[in-house]
Amino acid sequence: MASKFITSAAGVEGYPSSDLPEVAFVGHSNAGKSSLINALSKRKGLARVSTTPGKTDILNFYEIDGRFMLVDMPGYGFAARHQDTRETWTPMIENYLMNRDQLKGVVLVMAIKRQWREDEDNLITWLAHHGIPLILVLNKSDKLNQKEMVAKRREFDAIQSVSARIYASATKGQGIEELIRTIFDNLIRA
Ligand code: GDP
Repeated sequence: MASKFITSAAGVEGYPSSDLPEVAFVGHSNAGKSSLINALSKRKGLARVSTTPGKTDILNFYEIDGRFMLVDMPGYGFAARHQDTRETWTPMIENYLMNRDQLKGVVLVMAIKRQWREDEDNLITWLAHHGIPLILVLNKSDKLNQKEMVAKRREFDAIQSVSARIYASATKGQGIEELIRTIFDNLIRA
């Protein structure tokens, strides 16, 4: 795939004017989101593989094979408001997700060993409420043995409001083709 970085945006005025379909990628830090973006774009240095988790409130747009725009979102885009522990999307991210016409869906990247938490529940509930389809990618599957994998599959299969679940390993290249196919079938062509 021929892929390239298009632009960064800190708000609506920075969004690219292309009308390609867009798919937003979110993930907790260290989930392997950058590695996954590099694997599916076949461009090693396209997304920076992070050593220090960045907190910048910015969207990065990458064009993938001239066919869709991959929008890399910071963290979960959550910000704790005031003293309140309640977390929500930052206004910038919320604005993007709610108002971007060509947004087709969201890919949530999780390290498979991470415990499903309230963060994930909030995110899934918010997306379902706004009618935004979600693909769940369980990354770093290479770290589990077969027995652990069976248990994890049972756990993740029980999670509702997910259009597809992909078991992947960005470093081993597993699940990458399936992810691309599912992005087209479940989000872009749906
Ligand atoms: P990000 O913070 O979500 O963008 O995560 P990165 O892509 O920067 O990856 C964080 C760390 O996890 C790096 O050391 C990667 O090499 C490692 N990593 C990413 N994907 C995988 C995977 O599928 N398997 C394993 N074992 N390690 C991975």
